[in-house]
Amino acid sequence: MARETKSTCPYCGVGCGVVIESDGDQITGVRGDPDHPANFGRLCSKGSTLHLTASAPITHQARLLHPMRRAHRGERPTRVSWDEAMGVAVETFVRTIREHGPDAVGFYLSGQLLTEDYYVFNKLAKGLIGTNNVDTNSRLCMSSAVAGYKMTLGADAPPNCYEDIDHAQCIFIAGSNTAWAHPVLFRRIEDAKAANPSLKIICCDPRRTETAGIADLYLPIQPGTDVMLLHGMLHVMLWEGWVNYAYIAAHTTGFDELKNTVRECTPDLVAQTCGIRKEDLFKATAMFATSATTLSLYCQGLNQSSSGAAKNAALINLHLATAQIGKPGAGPFSLTGQPNAMGGREVGGMANLLSAHRDLADPAHRAEVAALWGVPTVPDKPGKTAVEMFQAAADGQIKALWIACTNPAQSMPDQATVRRALERAEFVVVQEAFATTATCEFADLLLPATTWGEKTGTVTNSERRVSRVRPAIAKPGGTRHDWAIAAEFGHRLEKKLRPGLATLFPYSLADEELGAQAVWNEHRESTRGRDLDITGMSYALLDDTPLQWPMRAGESQGKARLYEDGVFPTDDGKARFANVAYRPLAEVRESRYPFSLNTGRLRDQWHGMSRTGTIGRLFGHVAEPSVQMHPQDLLRLRLADGDLVQVTSKRGSIVVPVQASGEVALSQAFIAMHWGPEFLGGCSSTGQRLAGVNALTTSAYCPSSKQPELKHAAVKIIKAELP
Ligand code: SF4
Repeated sequence: MARETKSTCPYCGVGCGVVIESDGDQITGVRGDPDHPANFGRLCSKGSTLHLTASAPITHQARLLHPMRRAHRGERPTRVSWDEAMGVAVETFVRTIREHGPDAVGFYLSGQLLTEDYYVFNKLAKGLIGTNNVDTNSRLCMSSAVAGYKMTLGADAPPNCYEDIDHAQCIFIAGSNTAWAHPVLFRRIEDAKAANPSLKIICCDPRRTETAGIADLYLPIQPGTDVMLLHGMLHVMLWEGWVNYAYIAAHTTGFDELKNTVRECTPDLVAQTCGIRKEDLFKATAMFATSATTLSLYCQGLNQSSSGAAKNAALINLHLATAQIGKPGAGPFSLTGQPNAMGGREVGGMANLLSAHRDLADPAHRAEVAALWGVPTVPDKPGKTAVEMFQAAADGQIKALWIACTNPAQSMPDQATVRRALERAEFVVVQEAFATTATCEFADLLLPATTWGEKTGTVTNSERRVSRVRPAIAKPGGTRHDWAIAAEFGHRLEKKLRPGLATLFPYSLADEELGAQAVWNEHRESTRGRDLDITGMSYALLDDTPLQWPMRAGESQGKARLYEDGVFPTDDGKARFANVAYRPLAEVRESRYPFSLNTGRLRDQWHGMSRTGTIGRLFGHVAEPSVQMHPQDLLRLRLADGDLVQVTSKRGSIVVPVQASGEVALSQAFIAMHWGPEFLGGCSSTGQRLAGVNALTTSAYCPSSKQPELKHAAVKIIKAELP
């Protein structure tokens, strides 16, 4: 029987609403939800082909439908029952915890999980097992934005909403190829430009992307020099008298210290360091500071950096200095990469966070969460973040790894270390919808999970809007929902670790809609009185319309925009200027590795392609991997378009066709992040077989956010010697 089900797109952080069409057994179509405030019916190339990824025979072949166990490494996994799979997992985790302590296990999660999934996993690790070793691929995506907001505004809360695009007089796009990474939002920017010819758009990016094409001013900065540029803009603002001293005095602290730092960032130094013209620095600063409303949109170019938190904070400094915040059309608006990186942050699903934006380092916050969960304590030892977790496993400290809904054997930087970690870990559980990811090859136990179109729960998009995710078809085979797998494991584990006590996971497994709702309600209660208080939201209200947080009990709608009253969630209610220093890239370009390699998204692919890679038409835009270089660099290296080249960093090497590109500057190169083992082979510096661009990337990370520098690796590029 034909059915329509409202849900949310599982790809990027725009969080578009979709209407799923199904015939009861199969998903047959998808269209944009005209009532959803994120997209008003629009979908991009990825969203509009979702139904094909859900129903294509190739996708079905790729699904993991039953638990599989590999009794010995190197053997093929064989099908086992859920009972056996859970028994093995519990026995191995209990043994590991008893012999080596709770920090010998780690959970690596995903910004693709739903908020309910994240919540249960976080409680399982921090509440039951007693380890903070819970981190997520959102560490590769948004942790610098989190650190930047907390450092300056006092809370991890993007202050804007999508409607601000319509009100802005100046949009400063920094480190974001919005046209490809957040396409539906980019359409809104195009609409705003068409409706308001006086709208000024600045695009700052080492690559002249499609997004730069819409800009009135393009700033082609050298990789990693964002902080110098942003400090230079503040220097010019001070010189020209464009800062708002009244706002600074009333609503901020720390400006005098920052003034001393940016005094050094003269236009000459900025032009020389960033590789831009001085007049463009002045033009950009004038547009930013003198427009009635300025909105910044930023993403991985700022985040994926060894100075990620500093870059975010330096940009927010500009908004505070010019009072471009807390009013329609103005503010620093970080765009979320994944569909639910925000939800993961909300429930504290990271190694340094606790539920409802609480900090693990704060004893009062730990006590609050322990009381909410009904456990004696939450451990105070900081957990391992993504890069640290795999390094600890490679060093033999973490012995059991549980990986859910993500593919670190492709997506993590420095693949040689990650693969060493997966080989050395004594027990690897991979909880996945697809059996084809590179990480599955390392699994001792494969647990089949449901995916888009089958799951129920919630996600939060970039503008703090919570949307429902709903099932359109029944769960296939023996798959289970991610939160339910974690809860079932928790039930069995707690019988061993705290026998006789009340369960920590009182969620119905028989009625999973009720169970998911119980998880949501518990998460909701944990937010009471916090900056992201959602005590006014319920599944019933969210079924009517997606809602933004905060939304306290008794309120009929959430807050579109934060800090309109000039009060910030800090001890004194004032925002803090961050006196951050410019630091060069972690890995310098030098004569042996003279190119700066950048990585990023394609328009029509998503992550490791387990879903989009099954659809032929999505290869119409870009059909095969390549390394893009400036045409003059090709000439200089005597290379022709299409030649195979060897791209080598200190960590590994891959062979890939070269492509001349007007988007890439001299001495720079770009490879898309999506291509996995079936497309792009390579090896480590010691000859180990690797795949994809992350054979080359570095795990050097920002000291504040622990987010790795995926936007730059020093590489050499030479013509490949073929046998
Ligand atoms: Fe999905 Fe993002 Fe495209 Fe919207 S813009 S349809 S959320 S991928």
